[in-house]
Amino acid sequence: MGKPFLIQTMLMTMFVPVGEFAIADDENAELVLRGGKIVTLDDRQPTANALAVGHGRIIALGEDDDVSKLIGAETRVIDLDGRLAIPGFIEGHGHFVGLGRSKMILDLTKAETWNDIVRLVKDAAQKKPAGQWIVGRGWHQSKWNPPPEPNVDGYPVHTKLSAVTPKHPALLTHASGHASIANARAMQLAKVDAATPDPGGGEILRDTDGKPTGVFRETAQGLVGPTGEAVDRGDRQLERAIELATQECLENGITSFHDAGSSFETIDVFKRLAEEGHLRVRLWVMVGDSNNRMARLLPKYRMVGFGDNHLTVRAIKRFIDGALGAHGAWMLEPYDDMPTSVGLNTSSVSSIRQTAELAIRHDYQLCVHAIGDRANREILNLFEDAFRSKPTDRSRRWRVEHAQHLDPDDIPRFAQLGVIASMQGVHATSDAPYVIKRLGQRRAAEGAYVWQRLIQADATVINGSDVPVEDIDPIACFYASVTRKLRSGEEFFPEQRMTREQALRSYTIDAAYAAFEEDVKGSLSPGKLADIVVLSNDILVCPEEEILKAKVVYTIIGGKVLYELP
Ligand SMILES: [Zn+2]
Repeated sequence: MGKPFLIQTMLMTMFVPVGEFAIADDENAELVLRGGKIVTLDDRQPTANALAVGHGRIIALGEDDDVSKLIGAETRVIDLDGRLAIPGFIEGHGHFVGLGRSKMILDLTKAETWNDIVRLVKDAAQKKPAGQWIVGRGWHQSKWNPPPEPNVDGYPVHTKLSAVTPKHPALLTHASGHASIANARAMQLAKVDAATPDPGGGEILRDTDGKPTGVFRETAQGLVGPTGEAVDRGDRQLERAIELATQECLENGITSFHDAGSSFETIDVFKRLAEEGHLRVRLWVMVGDSNNRMARLLPKYRMVGFGDNHLTVRAIKRFIDGALGAHGAWMLEPYDDMPTSVGLNTSSVSSIRQTAELAIRHDYQLCVHAIGDRANREILNLFEDAFRSKPTDRSRRWRVEHAQHLDPDDIPRFAQLGVIASMQGVHATSDAPYVIKRLGQRRAAEGAYVWQRLIQADATVINGSDVPVEDIDPIACFYASVTRKLRSGEEFFPEQRMTREQALRSYTIDAAYAAFEEDVKGSLSPGKLADIVVLSNDILVCPEEEILKAKVVYTIIGGKVLYELP
């Protein structure tokens, strides 16, 4: 924008100045929201009762009477009845296509035991012709009661699963995405047996005789699964997944989504949909591809605000380790409950260093998945080296995705380096039941999901769900962020919880900053995109337990109401 806002102090109303996004004198607003509590996250006018939209942007913000002057015959008027309107939620880290695909396969997230899962797969097999793959996702051995029997390192063994699926290959992915369990038929097709060696950065879990148990961790997951014709990689299936993901976002008040890793081919589809006006949620996409391909393709794919601000590609995703639940997080010291292991380094530091060079050369942000304290340290070191050419340069906004377990020495480095901590509130309460078991009391207290310590050290912390690892629901994640309360009511290191304002910022303006998009979104400021969510309960002031009852009433993107509570 660049021009000063005309602030009419008498009326406490902000209007867009004459310019790019202003409407002409005789023009009316497309949409007016009035009679509400509008929390803008813009310090110049933190609250308002009414707001007007023109050309997809916010054009006025203020008192009902004043904004109502912009209502014409064609204007849609929504009376908020005192409800809360806030900037649309920005999912700071999720897997957009993965979310859509998770709606197309067997959902294992609700299963409470291994036997439940075997039953679900058995039912699925009865409905499918022999030979077809059964694919599912969402199991988590640490959340089952009782634990699976038999088990190896707490993970189930394939035998019961194989017994109910003699004619179908089956592959069930862990909730974290960092492990999978295959049945006997799937392993047979993949020619995996006791003689198959572990690939680098991965592990085939084995029983005491050395036979594979069916569990494949990290990169070993690539050894087994549907291949060739069994996988319909066609655009139509991808478009179906995108549509399902979009629907899920809209129902949950998500107006922008940071997609944590898509291939160039998937980005082609996003781009086509954006061009056709069919990408309804705004995507900010991290490229997830090989260094070789990125060296060639990054310059061609960089795009900012493409398709009327629906697609931005200016970031890269890499992984350095796995996840805590599957003992894959790369730790400085061994796990308390697996003293032989410090977790897994899934991609070499040198290959991520090459990616960092590409990111600097082509002006992309680099976002690296790092969960364990060793993984975080390695990445901060690597970022520090990469920034060395300009030691005071905090402007790259590179990101650590998850930043889940930190050595206390590394906490201040996020702010020092201008590195964004892209964290997930809901992971803390969801993982809590096994964090102390894995890490012990000291490491958990000092460095597990330390949002408040990072914020106090002046780092930018953003929020999200890592969907489909967790449910996308930003209200559940907001609740986890401000309470750190488990379903049992127990609190997990509550001194690290965020204030409600911090949590809201982490889901809006700070997430916009983490994407270089704070000039167009993240607050309800005149001139910005009219991306707004209206909630049934005021999650900023209501009693704590009422937060979870809040429902999304409207999801508005670019001034268009794309979801309305039925
Ligand atoms: Zn992720």
